[in-house]
Amino acid sequence: MSKKFQSFKNVISHAKEYGFVFPSSEIYDGLSAVYDYGQNGVELKNNIKEYWWKSMTLFNDNIVGIDASIFMHPTTWKASGHVDAFNDPLIDNKDSKKRYRADVLVEDYISKIESKINKEVEKASKRFKETFNEDKFLETNEKVKEYKNRIKIILKRLNESLDKDNLKDVKKLIEELGIACPESGSKNWTDVKQFNLMFGTKLGASVDSATELFLRPETAQGIFVNFLNVQKTGRMKLPFGIAQIGKAFRNEIVARQFIFRMREFEQMEMQFFIPPGTQKQYYEDWKKKRLNWHISLGMGKENYRFHDHEKLAHYADAACDIEFNFPFGFKELEGIHSRTDFDLGNHQKYTGKKIQYFDPELNESYVPYVVETSIGLDRMFLSVFCNSLIEEKLEDGSLRTVLKIPKELAPNKVAILPLLKKDNLPEMAKEIFKKFRSEIKSVYDDKDAIGRRYRRQDAIGTPFCITVDHKSIEDQTVTIRERDSMKQKRVKIEKALNEITQKVSITNILKTL
Ligand code: ATP
Repeated sequence: MSKKFQSFKNVISHAKEYGFVFPSSEIYDGLSAVYDYGQNGVELKNNIKEYWWKSMTLFNDNIVGIDASIFMHPTTWKASGHVDAFNDPLIDNKDSKKRYRADVLVEDYISKIESKINKEVEKASKRFKETFNEDKFLETNEKVKEYKNRIKIILKRLNESLDKDNLKDVKKLIEELGIACPESGSKNWTDVKQFNLMFGTKLGASVDSATELFLRPETAQGIFVNFLNVQKTGRMKLPFGIAQIGKAFRNEIVARQFIFRMREFEQMEMQFFIPPGTQKQYYEDWKKKRLNWHISLGMGKENYRFHDHEKLAHYADAACDIEFNFPFGFKELEGIHSRTDFDLGNHQKYTGKKIQYFDPELNESYVPYVVETSIGLDRMFLSVFCNSLIEEKLEDGSLRTVLKIPKELAPNKVAILPLLKKDNLPEMAKEIFKKFRSEIKSVYDDKDAIGRRYRRQDAIGTPFCITVDHKSIEDQTVTIRERDSMKQKRVKIEKALNEITQKVSITNILKTL
């Protein structure tokens, strides 16, 4: 019997205890919403990057990669709209002194109504058993209809007020809904204010002549400003894409939920340049491709869903999120946006330089349109980590904690373990380890009893353990223990290397895309 770790606290403490994620500068009591990746975390992160990077640049012959700088010319952010519009509405509670995003307070209120709908569904499904038709129930049940209508009215009002920058009405809505501070229960709120999320810094030695810069809040602009460089030097024809992985920075008002919302994080973004008028088709196409990329990892189709944006960002004509079922509910993991020609068009305007593509088929030049896919590497890490952390009750009644991470993403693919620390077993195991480590990420461990070593590898998600015992010396065989089933089998050493290397290769998943 196995169950997922229900408590998010367990996830966070496991991540720390086993060298995945540490609070940043912890010896100074940490820095809010900034985290460091440890020895196992960095491997998992790199494997996720590899899966994404290869799926984009190897498996699409019209997508190339770049690596742009974090610092960019400050006018970039004026042109992109971030100086004027990259704001979140914030509100403070006067009693608890806690700060919130006003829109998130309302969205959390809506989530509560949604859970009431789910309860109605659960109740009805128990009552009607096999004859229960969920879709019909959702459409016809009076209570559910009322809840849904309520959600619609609240969302409409919130979006209209935000669109018109009517912050007074956002506050009024919070008061009318009777939303209380989740910490103190107080309803004593300040006015709602806009807060720009970009971090400012300075370039240059002298205070007077220093240029004001921003740390980039998204990696996308590095791609837009290099559009012509890549298109010309790569002789790229539309449609084509540019992919990038890199750090982004946002001065988030409330940064909670561990690495879900950080102030320094990493994005994996791909901007796909297309002729105007084709954006709908490519938008749908990339939605499918990206969902498939997630599902191919084998973490359960039911854990993903699309969420269409009602309120579109300043640059988009269509947008949706792929949400993942985190321990704290379905939340955004990746965004897919149809960005029109907003960015390239504005860079053209602000630089006074032509940023266009000559289409040989149409015999005309135009500013390309863009569909982008944008995923947070850290959120992807969190989704894999939360979903894989399992507590299992074994037949003998004992518990084991195991990280059933997709084996292709596991930090270590194999652990080489001598059964005992004597009788030449360590020497032989070390020889085997040397052979393995040049092919796949391997670890050698000879501390503690074998059972404890297996548990340690389970806890960090190592899919295979190879045990070297006295029989190994006699006949050049070893046992392979499989993490998920805990089954063991005996094989020749040379066979073990081939078998494991084949099973943990990321190419296996890439080929299914
Ligand atoms: P949210 O609504 O959660 O603030 P967003 O819509 O602002 O996210 P985008 O601007 O679409 O996010 O960024 C693309 C992706 O970058 C998101 O889907 C998410 O995975 C990731 N991301 C955004 N902000 C953060 C953050 N503060 N910490 C970690 N990842 C982030």
